[in-house]
Amino acid sequence: MADFTSTFHLKKGKEQSVKRFHPWIFSGAISRMDGRPDEGDIVRVLSFDGAFLGFGHYQIGSISVRLFSFRNETIDNAFWCQKIRQAFLLRKALGLTDSLETTAYRLVYAEGDGLPGLIVDVYGPTAVMQCHTVGMYRLREKLALGLKEVMGSRLEAVYDKSAKTIPFKAGIDARDGFIFGTSIPGLVKENGLSFRVDWEEGQKTGFFIDQRDNRFLLQSYASGRDVLNMFCYTGGFSFSALQGGARSVHSVDSSEKAIALTRENVDRNFPGDKRHQAFVADAFDFMKDKNDRYDLIVLDPPAFAKHRDAVHQALQGYKRLNAKAFEQIRPGGIVFTFSCSQVVSKERFREAVFSGAVLAGRSVKMLHQLGHPPDHPVDLFHPEGEYLKGLVLFVE
Ligand code: SAH
Repeated sequence: MADFTSTFHLKKGKEQSVKRFHPWIFSGAISRMDGRPDEGDIVRVLSFDGAFLGFGHYQIGSISVRLFSFRNETIDNAFWCQKIRQAFLLRKALGLTDSLETTAYRLVYAEGDGLPGLIVDVYGPTAVMQCHTVGMYRLREKLALGLKEVMGSRLEAVYDKSAKTIPFKAGIDARDGFIFGTSIPGLVKENGLSFRVDWEEGQKTGFFIDQRDNRFLLQSYASGRDVLNMFCYTGGFSFSALQGGARSVHSVDSSEKAIALTRENVDRNFPGDKRHQAFVADAFDFMKDKNDRYDLIVLDPPAFAKHRDAVHQALQGYKRLNAKAFEQIRPGGIVFTFSCSQVVSKERFREAVFSGAVLAGRSVKMLHQLGHPPDHPVDLFHPEGEYLKGLVLFVE
């Protein structure tokens, strides 16, 4: 039996989404709690008539429980280890666990791997764990043991980077650090190109793994083009453009640290390559007066909307940003444009981009619709897991 502290009974009818394996229980769905759980405790969820529905972590907020099991089973170390093994086997099937060309991948993608609240990214011999719930944070040592058992000699260290991601209201004074082993932030490869990943200081777990396939696609469009990589962070799209034979590549980010990393990474892969220049600048300032300078523009901004109430403003932001790129790009140019705001749907993002094209008065054709790569699997029963949207556009 599971080590659960309390039982939650749902209101009549509220069991329907759980029966369709949706892993979230909203606070309004609960009719009664037996017990007084602390945030992060494992709770058992029953329907209004007492039928078993699942086990999950209790949290304070509009989502009260995140379910990780829909079976009446024992939740012990072996259970967590098995979950990690399933996630690992999926990545193995994708050819990621033993590749020499790509050594950075997402091993655990929260709900997409039946482990709500947990992200694990692998950078060579180091796994970086990021917990978004108190429940997962409390399990971090068990989870690290599971990682070690499943990955064996592939893994030398597990670094916990949850201080900024666990709910701050939980009042846990979390510190980032190694759970076992040590390693220095090191070099990883993506499709044969090298990056230095700084998980201690960097954004997210240190690297935007989710753009891997899109960066690769860019290579095939880059030949002979003048490329602007806006919001470049560690420079991923810039190297792809250089690798693909771009004529020139400009990398732009408002963060000095990001530009320093981009320069370092470009030098490592393309030493002394005069085609590349990097600029610390705000996107809108930089794009003010660049008419006809570029014929391939990448727009990969940070999430413009983190919450539902910010969606309208975010859509305006995407419209303005894309309009700027459409106004400036040479005829026959290509735009790779993205949104990583989970609350902005694919359809609404596309509308915003199209409004941008109307504003700029350019005729635009859609060549590809992009998303995140398969090491970020979306559980069919949890479509909220889909967040990255991209379009590749041809501007006449
Ligand atoms: N394309 C990157 C990831 C981009 S993350 C990759 O492939 O790895 C978003 C980046 O936008 C961050 O590095 C952040 O510093 C930068 N940024 C945020 N606001 C900005 C602004 N107004 N102008 C330019 N860059 C900005």
